[in-house]
Amino acid sequence: MLQDKVKPPILQLVGVRKTFNEFVAVERIDLDVMDGEFLTIVGPSGSGKTTLLRMLAGMDQPSEGNITLHGERINDVPPNKRPTCLVFQSLALFPHKTVGDNIGFPLKMRGVDTKTRRARALELMAMVRLPANYLDKNVMKCSGGERQRVALARALAYDPEVLFFDEPLSAIDYKLKKVLEKELKDLHKETGKTFIYITHSLEEAMVMSDRIGVMRAGRLVQVGTPEEIYNRPVDRFVCEFLGEVNVIEVAKAAADAPWRGLDVPGIFQVRPPAPAPHADHAFVAIRPESLRFLVPGETAENRLQGIVYNEYALGSRIQYQVRVGDKVMLVELPRSKALPASADRSVVVGWDAADAITVEA
Ligand code: ATP
Repeated sequence: MLQDKVKPPILQLVGVRKTFNEFVAVERIDLDVMDGEFLTIVGPSGSGKTTLLRMLAGMDQPSEGNITLHGERINDVPPNKRPTCLVFQSLALFPHKTVGDNIGFPLKMRGVDTKTRRARALELMAMVRLPANYLDKNVMKCSGGERQRVALARALAYDPEVLFFDEPLSAIDYKLKKVLEKELKDLHKETGKTFIYITHSLEEAMVMSDRIGVMRAGRLVQVGTPEEIYNRPVDRFVCEFLGEVNVIEVAKAAADAPWRGLDVPGIFQVRPPAPAPHADHAFVAIRPESLRFLVPGETAENRLQGIVYNEYALGSRIQYQVRVGDKVMLVELPRSKALPASADRSVVVGWDAADAITVEA
């Protein structure tokens, strides 16, 4: 039967709320986390990510609602009694201990003998790509990235079913971060464990996650695959959180009237599926790479007259800032399509309705 094949969620949140006196830090969250998935919670500073993670890890209790693990209520179960482990931004390693002793610490706590601990530490080091000869190295003599791997290996030594990550890569330089993101994704695959990760960085979330949850002011406003979040954001907030995007506010006076720009002049072609047929007010979001400069004779469903006043080289691409009335629009082109230096700075920016995302206001 199909039902037999559908696994129940490993973690389930029903109406989870957290208040500090009058202040609501997390507002009634319902969420199912599937066994073995990589779920990332993103959101701006103060949106409630850490508060949510602390409740999941058992460091705080919800003010209302229930958290269940394998169907058992765990609201009041302390962190050390849960089959979960939290990897902090600060890593919380023992500075005076070796790499091996740091990784083997959870096993020591369980009374595992030295020889078995060292053997297991070596296995875990291989898994997180640390060289075997680091076993007796003082952890403070390791680089930031290596310490990151030690913390990860130690978390795995607990053999948790669920690993929580609290912005572990936020203090790491960009290049190393990119390497560690991929390694973390591989590790997730290799171990088959459930990873719940929080970050400010949507880019990080996009690379690693099976699903992303976007938080705003304590609420989980959208949960979906990276593709769903990127292509079908539910509202203007999610849209703008996804990075640099041009947003035009549009409205229409009647069902069959055209969509008129409210913050830029003009009539715009806006395609379904969103907004819903009854909507009379919406935001059209166009990514900078979906805009182009129209050459004379070239057409596009939507056009805006503007003036280029700035340009930035972004590796293989160039970003232009174009003033359209009071608004600044961003246009990103491959270098091969860059405006010639001699070109007129007065431009026509164009896009087709299908290349824009429309969200209801
Ligand atoms: P950041 O990305 O900056 O870490 P965040 O999304 O993790 O932010 P939280 O740390 O969960 O946000 O905080 C959410 C809100 O709850 C904030 O306004 C914060 O000030 C408040 N808050 C968190 N912990 C407490 C506490 N112990 N007492 C009072 N207010 C708190």
